[in-house]
Amino acid sequence: MLVVMKPCADPVQIERVCQEIRVLGYTPHVMPGAGRTAIGITGNKGPVNALPLETLAGVEQCLPVTKGYKLVLRDMKPEGTHVQVGGCGIGGGTYFTVIAGPCSVESTQQMETVAQFLKDQGVKILRGGAFKPRTSPYSFQGLEQEGLAILKDVGARFALGTITEVMDTGAVEAVEAHADILQIGARNMQNFSLLKRVGKATKPVFLKRGMSATLEELLLAAEYVLHGGNHNVILCERGVRTFADHARNTLDLSIIPSVQKLSHLPIFADPSHAIGKREFVEPLAKAALAAGADGLMIEVAPDPDHALSDGAQTLSFKAFERLMQNLRPLAQALGRKIN
Ligand code: PEP
Ligand code: MN
Repeated sequence: MLVVMKPCADPVQIERVCQEIRVLGYTPHVMPGAGRTAIGITGNKGPVNALPLETLAGVEQCLPVTKGYKLVLRDMKPEGTHVQVGGCGIGGGTYFTVIAGPCSVESTQQMETVAQFLKDQGVKILRGGAFKPRTSPYSFQGLEQEGLAILKDVGARFALGTITEVMDTGAVEAVEAHADILQIGARNMQNFSLLKRVGKATKPVFLKRGMSATLEELLLAAEYVLHGGNHNVILCERGVRTFADHARNTLDLSIIPSVQKLSHLPIFADPSHAIGKREFVEPLAKAALAAGADGLMIEVAPDPDHALSDGAQTLSFKAFERLMQNLRPLAQALGRKIN
C-alpha cells in the first residue's frame, strides 16, 4: 500500500503515519516529493487494512498495491526522481544527461585524454570500467583496483562525476570509495545479494537491464535497491537478445515510455552496447532522446581500434563530437537541455 499525504501535510503528521504503520507491524518508507510526500508500506504478507491510516491527519489517500514492486511506482513520486551527482542533475524531465567514456579504464593517460575531451564537449560524467564482466576468461578483465584509483584521480582533477561497474558484493566498499555512481551491469541485474548490498550504499546506482529481463523484472530489481534504503536509482536500457543478428543486441526503445508511465525512476539508453557497431550509435542515440530517455551512456575512446574491450562499438572523438552537435538541436526542439 502507498499512503499519499496531502500537499500541506507537516513532518509531525508524516511521523504519526509512520508510527501507525510500525504499530501495525510493517515498515514505512518515506519518499518526499516536490508537491507531496508518499509513504510506502512493506513487510505486509497480505493486504493492508487502510482504515487506521486513512483517518489520520494529513492523509490524502491510501492506494493498494498489487504488484511485487511499490517503492519504484510513479505514485510514490509523481514528479520523477532527480539524482544529483556533483553539479549534474539527472532525471526529472528537463535534463538529458550524457555519460561517456571508454569501456575500460586502460591507463592514466588514456583517461586524462578522454576526460579533457569530454570536458570540452560539456559532458559531466565520465565512465570507465575497472572490473569487466567478460564473456571469455581470456579477455581483458580490467585494471581492477588500479583502474578505480585512476578513475577517481582523473575524475577529481577534471572535475567530472564518475561511474564504474561493481560486479560483486565484496567490491562495493572499494567502488563506493572511488566512484560517484555504482553501475550494476546487465549480467548482474538479478544478482540479489548485490542489489541488497548496493541498497545500503550511499552512492546512486545505475542499474542496467538484463539482456533477457522483462520490464517487471527490471522494476523488481530496482525495488530491491530502494527497499534497502537507497532511493537514487537510474535505470538503463542497453539492448536485449532477440532473433535479430544484424546487431549485438536490440535496443528496446519501447521500455522508455513504459518505465516512465509506471515508475518515477530515470531511464537511460546505452546505444553502444545495444547495437555493438560504432557507425550506428548516433541514430540510436537520437532515437532514445526522441523517445524521452533521461540520458545516454556512450562509449568513446581516443583510439577505439586498439581498445582493450568493446572497440567495435566505441566512438572516436570525431564521431562523438558530431553526435553531440547533432543531439543539441534535437534536444532543443524537444524542450530538453543536454548536460
Ligand atoms: C559496460 O557498460 O561496459 C557493460 C559491460 O555493460 P552491460 O552490462 O550493459 O553489458
Ligand atoms: Mn563496454
